[in-house]
Amino acid sequence: MAGEPQADCLFCKIVSGEVPATVVRETETTVAFRDINPQAPTHVLVIPKAHYKDAAALAAASPELLADVLREAAEVAAEDKVDATGYRIVFNTGSGAGQTVFHAHAHVLGGRGLQWPPG
Ligand code: 5GP
Ligand code: ZN
Repeated sequence: MAGEPQADCLFCKIVSGEVPATVVRETETTVAFRDINPQAPTHVLVIPKAHYKDAAALAAASPELLADVLREAAEVAAEDKVDATGYRIVFNTGSGAGQTVFHAHAHVLGGRGLQWPPG
């Protein structure tokens, strides 16, 4: 069923606690944790607790849950004090765009200058 935990999904295992993570924020519907391979001083992943393969699937199934993820991304940026200088929210979608974990997640990147367009 859409949104149900997937046995082979790394981020579902982070939600359940089976795989440890440095969690910075948690709500009823979301978890935010530091990326294991940070690309910027602030690099946090915000995920819905429910499993959707990417941001588009999440948006189609539950716009409210996608909004929860975006609201939490802003809270993370504020807590890490990168909101004043600016930060980037990225949803890599599909392997050609660099998506490696197929559980929807927002990257929150900040704390350094960010190039545009991204590579
Ligand atoms: P994607 O490439 O799918 O957009 O993003 C997946 C992200 O998950 C990558 O930035 C990668 O560094 C991060 N990642 C992969 N495995 C783990 C893990 O076990 N723990 C944490 N905290 N991050 C992970
Ligand atoms: Zn999952």
